[in-house]
Amino acid sequence: MTQNAADAVSRTPLTPLTPLTPLTPLTLLGLGAMGTALAGAWLAAGHPLTVWNRTAARAEPLAARGAAVAATAGEAVAANRLVVVCLLDDASVEEALAGVDLTGKDVVNLVTSTPGTARARAALVTGRGARYLDGGIMAVPPMIGVPQAGPYVFYSGSPELFEEHRATLAAPADARYVGADAGHAALHDVALLSAMYGMFAGVAHAFALVRGESVDPRALAPLLSSWLTAMTGSVAATAGQLAAGDYTEGVVSSLAMQVAGVPTFLRTAEEQGVSSELLTPYFELMRRRLDADPARHGVEDLTGVVDLLRG
Ligand code: NDP
Repeated sequence: MTQNAADAVSRTPLTPLTPLTPLTPLTLLGLGAMGTALAGAWLAAGHPLTVWNRTAARAEPLAARGAAVAATAGEAVAANRLVVVCLLDDASVEEALAGVDLTGKDVVNLVTSTPGTARARAALVTGRGARYLDGGIMAVPPMIGVPQAGPYVFYSGSPELFEEHRATLAAPADARYVGADAGHAALHDVALLSAMYGMFAGVAHAFALVRGESVDPRALAPLLSSWLTAMTGSVAATAGQLAAGDYTEGVVSSLAMQVAGVPTFLRTAEEQGVSSELLTPYFELMRRRLDADPARHGVEDLTGVVDLLRG
């Protein structure tokens, strides 16, 4: 070693050895398609994991990857403070947790449910001595553990539980906290999925219109996709109008103009021999809003429909 090199070494500060922070151990109840994907992501991230599934065979591949397998739900819950539940439905959660001691546990429920059910479960679980967080998964199993696919989970309920376990919860999918009201994760989840079904309805109608004509559905698909993408700008516009309480703000296509166009849509469906049952309810709401006060509402956007839905 040259003198210069020796000097450089002697001046280099010793890097202190950082003790590896042990990753939070956790329990997962439910190894269906989603539960198995979650388990795989936690194992891949290095979390000690205890699993339980009603059908024990489903745990075997995970055991081979290092998961501890509990014989009963009660045994699995007893193994760790953090307990994630990913069973089929509300009934299966009731069944699996019946008689299980939840004292001092941090229960995270990922079963898709309604806001009301989530609130009721929060009350029930906290009444049994645990902290509670509800989750709504915005992903399908293949997206879990694949950050570039954009998976995330809405969480709501105990802010302390969320803060303490945020990093663990974020291992399979990004964790987005939407408030202390335990019902709000389900509310966000169902709101997004409801909008999705509205979109699916429109897409079904569009394909039905061209079906039987010499229009290749594969040629229509990119046109539909790009049109729907372009129209998503209306989401922020609607939100802005709702927040401002002014439905005329930045209107580019007035309600009166759009209602005037409705017969064209209905006649086209008729000409094509296509039922308009998916579109008619929305058109009826547009018409009702306009008829309530044509001079006032005619210059608005479609946003008034939101108020009609709330009765
Ligand atoms: P699966 O149908 O693949 O698995 C259902 C799981 O629930 C299995 O582990 C099954 O056990 C268990 N189960 C059913 N009934 C009972 C019962 N009575 N007692 C105990 N265990 C029971 O469903 P997923 O894994 O796909 O879904 C789980 C949750 O995740 C659902 O709430 C779903 O809404 C949600 N979710 C799923 C998505 C998806 O795309 N898959 C997307 C977003 C959310 P067994 O193996 O013994 O049958």
